[in-house]
Amino acid sequence: MHSIDRILLENAAWASEHHEADPELFARLSSGQAPRVLWIGCSDSRVPAESICNAGPGDIFVFRNIANLVSDQRDAQAVLDYAVMVLKVEHIIVCGHHSCGGIRTALQPHSSGSDCIDAHLASVKTLVKQHADELATLDEQAQVIRLSELSVQAQIDHLLEHPLVRQAMDQGTLTLHGMMYSLHTGRLRELVRKTSEAVEAVPAASSH
Ligand SMILES: [Zn+2]
Repeated sequence: MHSIDRILLENAAWASEHHEADPELFARLSSGQAPRVLWIGCSDSRVPAESICNAGPGDIFVFRNIANLVSDQRDAQAVLDYAVMVLKVEHIIVCGHHSCGGIRTALQPHSSGSDCIDAHLASVKTLVKQHADELATLDEQAQVIRLSELSVQAQIDHLLEHPLVRQAMDQGTLTLHGMMYSLHTGRLRELVRKTSEAVEAVPAASSH
């Protein structure tokens, strides 16, 4: 871990390098932001959204929490409202990852030792119960990966219930993406993509 002095030195070097490469960068960023993507990812230090997407300042609106969950809490809902209503992002990415500590904690039958963490992971623990039979056939590492995938899908399903998200999708201006990040390869893999057509196809298919 860097000391604070090191962080300040690195920041000064970073600012100088970026100013040198693009003298208008900070003036441009100061005037506002227009990111096209909302990233909902894990707080895990190994999955830095901008770095793994090779993105720069202003490119991605980011919300990170343990195990990349879309909760009904105000912090998550405020990010969603702002991203969709004000920034009008075109894509929302929910990104899980291999070896997620939050997901591993949710797989344990006992408490994490923190009421806050237990409450945060409650919806993932529900998924564990719902998919207990499938998860029981896997070893521990595979369980974490599979539960991460199931959780990403659940977060996408939850996003589909959000009124502003549904409205933007119905207008054809928003696409949802569920992804997994591999710590072993550094690669993203898209698990699911939802466009307005896909949303509309669900009730149409089930009515036949
Ligand atoms: Zn994680």
